[in-house]
Amino acid sequence: MTARIIDGKAFAAGLRARVAEGAAAFAAAAGRKAGLAVVLVGDDAASAVYVRSKHKATLAAGMKSFEHRLPAATVQDALIALVRQLNADDAVDGILVQLPLPKHIDEQAVVEAIDPAKDVDGLTPISTGRLALGLDGLVPCTPLGSMMLVEDVLGDISGKDAVVIGRSILVGKPMAQLLLAKNATVTIAHSRTKDLPALVARADIVVAAVGRAGMVKPDWVKPGAVVIDVGINRTDAGLVGDVDPAVFAVAGAMTPVPGGVGPMTIACLLRNTLVAAHRRVGVPMTTPL
Ligand code: NDP
Repeated sequence: MTARIIDGKAFAAGLRARVAEGAAAFAAAAGRKAGLAVVLVGDDAASAVYVRSKHKATLAAGMKSFEHRLPAATVQDALIALVRQLNADDAVDGILVQLPLPKHIDEQAVVEAIDPAKDVDGLTPISTGRLALGLDGLVPCTPLGSMMLVEDVLGDISGKDAVVIGRSILVGKPMAQLLLAKNATVTIAHSRTKDLPALVARADIVVAAVGRAGMVKPDWVKPGAVVIDVGINRTDAGLVGDVDPAVFAVAGAMTPVPGGVGPMTIACLLRNTLVAAHRRVGVPMTTPL
C-alpha cells in the first residue's frame, strides 16, 4: 500500500480563498477590514519567518495586519501594556503573541492578558476551558487545521481509535479534545508513555506532535491508518517531520513535511481572525469556513 498524500497546501489555499471571500463580506458589513495584530519579541530566526508569512497571508486575505516588533530586552510589564493596548483597539480583532518569548518573560502571564474575544491562538484559559467544555470558542490553529485534514480524509470519525503523541497546550491537548468531541476514542502519549509502538499500532488515526525527527516508524503503524505529521524539525537534510517518510508505504493517507499541516496553521489563523471579527462586531458569517 502507498498512502494518499494529504495535500495540506492545496486544502489551505482553498480555506484561504474562502477566508478572503468572508473578509470582503465582513468589510462590507462592518465598514472596516478585520484586523490581526502579531507581536514578536526578540530576534529568533524561525519566529521572524513565521511572523513575516503571517503578515503576508493576512494582507493577501484582505485583512489588516498590525505588526509589533519589540527588542529581546523588552520587560514583561511593557509587553503586557502593549497587549492591553491591543485589547482596547477596536481595529484589532485578533492578537497573536509569537512564542517562544525570551526567558525573562512569563509566557503564561502574557497569554492571560489577551482578551479571550481576540485570542486567535486559542491559548488563554477561557479558550482552553471552552474547548474542554465543548463550547464554541477559538481553537489553536495547528490542531484545528490538523482536524480539518483528518475529517477531509475520513469524514465521520466516530468510534475510531486515535493516538495523539505529544501533550502540549499548543498542539497535543487541543488535538485530543477535538478528536474526542467528534467521538473518536483518544489516547494521549507523551515522554513517559510505555511502549509507544504498541499504542500507535492500534490507531486508525495517528497525530505526531513531538519535535523528534522521524520518530514514528513504519513497523509501528497499522496499515491503512491516517497519519498527521505535525512535527517541524530542522536537520542537515532540511525540514523533516516526526514521522519517518517510510511510513508512506504503510499508511492509508499521510501529510508530508513540508506541505501538510504547516500551511493549515496560517490558514486557520486567518480563519480564527475572521471568526473573532464577526463575533466582536455581531454580524453573522455568510461564508462557510
Ligand atoms: P512541545 O515540545 O511543547 O511538546 C512535545 C511533546 O512531545 C511533549 O508532550 C512531550 O512529552 C512529547 N514527547 C517528547 N519526547 C517524546 C517521546 N520520546 N515519546 C513520546 N512523546 C514525547 O512541542 P509542540 O507541541 O509545541 O510541537 C510539537 C512539534 O510540532 C514540534 O516539532 C513543533 O515544531 C511542531 N509544530 C508545528 C506546527 C505547524 O504549524 N506545523 C505548529 C506548532 C508546532 P512530555 O509532555 O512528557 O514532555
